[in-house]
Amino acid sequence: MSRTAYIAREQMERITERILTDYGFDPYDKSVRPVPIEEIVEFHYDLQICWEPIDRLDEDGMVMAAIIPERRQIILNETHRDLFDRKIGTYHFTLAHELGHWVLHAAERPHLRTGGRRSEERADESSFVYYCRSSSRKPIEEVQADLFAGCLLMPQPMMARAVKQLAMLGSIRLRHLYGLADCLKVSVSALAVRLDQLRLLHIGRDGDIIKPGTESPTAVRYEQMTLDL
Ligand SMILES: [Zn+2]
Repeated sequence: MSRTAYIAREQMERITERILTDYGFDPYDKSVRPVPIEEIVEFHYDLQICWEPIDRLDEDGMVMAAIIPERRQIILNETHRDLFDRKIGTYHFTLAHELGHWVLHAAERPHLRTGGRRSEERADESSFVYYCRSSSRKPIEEVQADLFAGCLLMPQPMMARAVKQLAMLGSIRLRHLYGLADCLKVSVSALAVRLDQLRLLHIGRDGDIIKPGTESPTAVRYEQMTLDL
């Protein structure tokens, strides 16, 4: 299933920025705010979000969600509804990840987007279902959908501005990162990955918050944090 060309981060930033701009969300304007991912999925892409118990799709891992391109459906695993309800960041990231499969992978199979293969049997359809597990062993499509989600929910220009604003307050504290994650409606762990990827802030192995470029023995270490995984 992996004929997909690898998309580097810079290119992914352009793809997601274009999506946001097309939707009317300007990542360059002055405010730091959450990306309206539900609206983008439902109204901009006309994809249906529904809930079903879908653990059966993978007996070995924890299935979070799936997308059936042929039906234009994103299915969230109802078994984990409590988790999604408690953690809006996980809910938003999962939606953005599934949208990533639609934009990056289903686009290569236009017949799926029009439902043109509906007459063929379910066995064929199911081979194009992306079911997404919570696991560290990820195929390339999953890694790319995660990258897409991070870029979309935390656009580069907005993140650079947010960190600049925090730095103006003085040293960056753990509570600032929690506040920023809250404001963007993402999890602190997704935020940490994104800040590190953009080389804006690095969370050290020992949990310290480090400003990149200062990783010397005299590095500016802000405050220890525990990642909320
Ligand atoms: Zn996935």
